[in-house]
Amino acid sequence: MSEFNAKQLANPGVQELHPYQAGKPIEELERELGIKDIVKLASNENPLGISPKVKAALAAEIEDLARYPDANGYYLKAKIAEQFGVEMNQITLGNGSNDVLELLARTFVSDQHSVIFSQHAFVVYPLVTQAIGARGVAVPAKNYGHDLDAMAAAIDSTTRMIFIANPNNPTGTFLTSAELYAFLQKVPTNVLVVLDEAYYEYVDAAERAPSVSWVAEFPNLIVSRTFSKAYGLAGLRAGHAISHPSVADYMNRIRQPFNMNSLSLKAAEVALDDHDYLAEAVELNKQGMAQLIAFCEQHDLDYIPSRGNFLTIEVGDNAAEIYTKLLHRGVIVRPVAGYELPRHLRVSIGLKEENEVFIQAMQAILAEG
Ligand SMILES: *Cc1c(COP(=O)(O)O)cnc(C)c1O
Repeated sequence: MSEFNAKQLANPGVQELHPYQAGKPIEELERELGIKDIVKLASNENPLGISPKVKAALAAEIEDLARYPDANGYYLKAKIAEQFGVEMNQITLGNGSNDVLELLARTFVSDQHSVIFSQHAFVVYPLVTQAIGARGVAVPAKNYGHDLDAMAAAIDSTTRMIFIANPNNPTGTFLTSAELYAFLQKVPTNVLVVLDEAYYEYVDAAERAPSVSWVAEFPNLIVSRTFSKAYGLAGLRAGHAISHPSVADYMNRIRQPFNMNSLSLKAAEVALDDHDYLAEAVELNKQGMAQLIAFCEQHDLDYIPSRGNFLTIEVGDNAAEIYTKLLHRGVIVRPVAGYELPRHLRVSIGLKEENEVFIQAMQAILAEG
């Protein structure tokens, strides 16, 4: 290939951008180390695998793949509207909720604006902000989580959007309903608040914020949800936002009409009715969380209390080395040094046996000293 550097041609915000670092795929580690039976606890995926009901629906849907998907996602939107008590015109569908987050930034934020998010918050927020050439304002975290008072105080005349992840990834930290509500009351309506609730289903029902119902009171609030975690559809890409109809209207103008494909539309629709699968996933997560916490306590390892489907453990200064040693033992977890957590590793909760493989590997590594 001839010598050529496209940097000067790339948009200013893109020039210094680093690509999203995904969890290492199982196949990649197999290729690299020539090992089998790998346990991946790196991407907060649902260890149950796809729900049998969804699988059956997908098999039927395959027959129609020569046709374009429904660009308006009518049936999925109708299902979401029914379950969440909203109107269909409040819903924006996304190719995963990352798509929704990017769509929000591209619709409402320009290079004249700034966007507020928390230190240690989901990396997609700074990424979409930077891509647009907007200014990102990372507010220092409090106990690894969002400091909402400091975030409210950071609002200035340039602020157009605030991202909040609740629970947050990669820390698992959680904001109460009362804290969130008080925050929303402080934010002027010309600042959009994106409440990313990717792990909502893992939070005990009694503690969940009635966030969707708040949209009627706060037209600047957008709630995003995903099918990638508790619903077990990470590979299909399905997510959505619930907002004021006017917000959805503008997002819809730049949304790619077929951003959700026929299979993901169908799978998400069926998954929403598969209450047994969801309950099983949540219960399995609860047990796995207890299993990992017991391991941490047994070995005096600090961890960040988590409401998600993962636990971020403080393994020490040699976190990068431990990560590599785990790989050699066939266990993939997630380094989080890029989130300013260089002493931690994030471990997704897997099946009981998978968690046990991780625990055994860690015990062996810790014993090596
Ligand atoms: C996993 C995750 C998402 C969801 O990503 P998808 O694009 O829906 O797969 C969104 N926000 C946070 C904080 C996440 O951890």
